[in-house]
Amino acid sequence: MARQIAIGVDIGGTKIAAATVDIEGRMLSSLKIDTPGGTSDDVVTAIGDIVKRLNESALNTGEVVGIGLGVAGTINWKEGLVVQSPNLPFSNIRLRSIVESKFGLSTFMDNDGNLATLGEKYYGAARGARNIIGLTLGTGIGAGIIFDGCLYRGATGSAAEIGHMVIQATGPQCTCGSYGCFEEMAAGRALLRLAKEKVKQNRESLILELAGGDAKNITGPMVTEAGQMGDKTALDVFGEIGFWLGIGINNVINIFNPELVVIGGGMGDAGELILSPSRKVIDERTLHPNKDVAEVVLADLGNQAGVLGAAALVFDELST
Ligand SMILES: [Zn+2]
Repeated sequence: MARQIAIGVDIGGTKIAAATVDIEGRMLSSLKIDTPGGTSDDVVTAIGDIVKRLNESALNTGEVVGIGLGVAGTINWKEGLVVQSPNLPFSNIRLRSIVESKFGLSTFMDNDGNLATLGEKYYGAARGARNIIGLTLGTGIGAGIIFDGCLYRGATGSAAEIGHMVIQATGPQCTCGSYGCFEEMAAGRALLRLAKEKVKQNRESLILELAGGDAKNITGPMVTEAGQMGDKTALDVFGEIGFWLGIGINNVINIFNPELVVIGGGMGDAGELILSPSRKVIDERTLHPNKDVAEVVLADLGNQAGVLGAAALVFDELST
């Protein structure tokens, strides 16, 4: 029997990455292009081109059984609709059927948070687990819920907006319009806000030195680097971010009783700097027996989570 291959496509605001992936999660060929500026038609054309090139490259290696599309944004799962995407010119686009009719291959689509979590279940840190919460810590927080082995999508496919769970009702305003959302307290925007505030009080901080003396230039990786070198201001920042991360994780552990909480995304690079204050909060506040079984671990797939998750979606859907 020919090897079964899925084409996974990760459609982001700056890059479109895609790969042919076999059922074991081996990437056979991959491509990455800049997301074209302009209209939704331009982006759809670029997606079509990249899938076409991969489909041709797969002809010698096996049989392409389907296409998986991952999009940052709100998805209507049943309709295959991208309802809204913060960084792409998509508004109520039937992306799934457009791609499906172009290639005549079974096509599935989900949001990036769900797919990163599914990818970790199939090929990464969550292999073998059946109840999983995935959190992708970037500028905001993407998330996915695997509930008794299956992605939990809710009524329209837009469940798992854990990033917009309110954890500090009088906190800073979030991009969604609400206040004190999890992602506004515990992800990239909070990290930069706090670091900029704290270096004002401590001009000696290594963070400021790494930023060339100007707080405006501070980036997340600079705060991580300073923290890894033991800089007190950076450790304070991670202590506070980790506290709020722990509060949010405490809530999801109490609600879902998962075996695993998988932390990925750029801020996952901070590793124990952020995880150890989180674990302290979970240990102090989360209910028994939920906290005894819930392990908080780092994701495995790094920046391949998107394409591998999109490919996993194809195998997952075709197997059910
Ligand atoms: Zn929000």
